[in-house]
Amino acid sequence: MGKVDDVIVIGGGVIGCSIAYQLAGRGLAVTVLERGRLGGEATAAAAGMLGAQAEMNETGPLFQLSRWSRSLFPQLAEELAALTGVGIGLVREGLLHLAMDEVQERELRGRAALQQAAGEPAAWLDAAEAARLEPALSRGLRGALYLPEDGQVEAPQLARALAAGAALRGAHLREYTQVRELLVERGRVVGVLTDDGPRYAERVVAAAGVWSGRLLGGIGAELPLVPVKGECFSVLAPPGLLRRTLFTPGCYIVPKAGGRLVVGATMVPGSYDRRVSLAGVAGLMQTAQRLLPAIGEAEWERAWTGLRPQSADGLPYLGAVPGYEGLYVAAGHYRNGILLAPATGVWLAALVAGGPAEAAELLAREERQRTGASSWAAACRAERLTVAAPVGAGEGA
Ligand SMILES: Cc1cc2nc3c(=O)[nH]c(=O)nc-3n(C[C@H](O)[C@H](O)[C@H](O)COP(=O)(O)OP(=O)(O)OC[C@H]3O[C@@H](n4cnc5c(N)ncnc54)[C@H](O)[C@@H]3O)c2cc1C
Repeated sequence: MGKVDDVIVIGGGVIGCSIAYQLAGRGLAVTVLERGRLGGEATAAAAGMLGAQAEMNETGPLFQLSRWSRSLFPQLAEELAALTGVGIGLVREGLLHLAMDEVQERELRGRAALQQAAGEPAAWLDAAEAARLEPALSRGLRGALYLPEDGQVEAPQLARALAAGAALRGAHLREYTQVRELLVERGRVVGVLTDDGPRYAERVVAAAGVWSGRLLGGIGAELPLVPVKGECFSVLAPPGLLRRTLFTPGCYIVPKAGGRLVVGATMVPGSYDRRVSLAGVAGLMQTAQRLLPAIGEAEWERAWTGLRPQSADGLPYLGAVPGYEGLYVAAGHYRNGILLAPATGVWLAALVAGGPAEAAELLAREERQRTGASSWAAACRAERLTVAAPVGAGEGA
């Protein structure tokens, strides 16, 4: 048997990199295996919103996990900048969730009340108040739900910083290394088979985005994940045209450094097609101009797509895969993988390195700070996977 790592992480997206960063920080020997470029898939496509409140229409498990994760960003940004010199572009200017008609206004006023009751800042602004915050906003709006804590980051830089941080903490990051299958002996995972042959580890974390289902399918575990293709484009506008993210269900505009505006995103469920469609971009352009008329004058930059990993119930799978000792999964972060990356890394590292008792203690600590903080762990647990009888019982790998 060759060299044995403590942990192999399959997938070098923002989730795999965050887990590797935290595990390496605990002194474990970690290898990340990425079949392409680190952060090159869904992570590269993300607009980087930290929409802990904007993305949630109820205050259930995903909301609880999201606000914990959002709270970790300021310290993580400082830590990564100090360690790696890579800034993640954390901006905390807030977000305006816009209402275009009366029905949306009613809905958003309801959300404001819900989130205030949960202890989060949220305020309904009428059209004039919203325009005072963002003078370039369209005058044809009903108003906006203002969420001052929903910031944003540069998603590709977050992944780059986490990868660089993991490497500086001793992790090995191998690009262009595809994992073909998991290696299992007597119900215990012992490593993976790659294009370059087997690699062995005490524990394996599947963090391969929407492709995690295929990997686990190889051992009879059913991980229902579907891709939801998203198209985005970016333009260059005069710096200062917009400071806060503008958000509607079908279109958002995220202001980046130097006047760059990212406009997203379409939703095409079930599609692995990576082409940018004219219809998709045209629809976004039309809505973006309705929200921010001056965007029509901006200079075109580029368009791209990515595949969001969506689970059957919309919640990520986080934790130990039942029936297989040493095997963990962190996948299905759908529209919120950038937002959820810090908490996913911290939580998985506690579970993988520290075990269930330490993970439970972490939750209990969170619960003391935020009501309902631990409810997400039960809802997101990987135990809801359907697993056939473990393969490899009694076999060599
Ligand atoms: C258009 C768009 C906009 C988005 N905007 C936001 C946003 O504003 N805020 C937010 O929080 N989230 C956003 N998201 C969602 C976010 O991008 C994802 O939830 C997140 O990137 C998922 O990260 P991941 O690491 O699980 O997956 P990925 O980034 O897809 O990474 C998985 C990695 O695993 C690798 N891999 C797969 N199979 C194997 C194998 N067999 N062997 C080795 N490697 C393998 C892949 O090559 C890939 O690099 C957006 C997504 C899209 C598409």
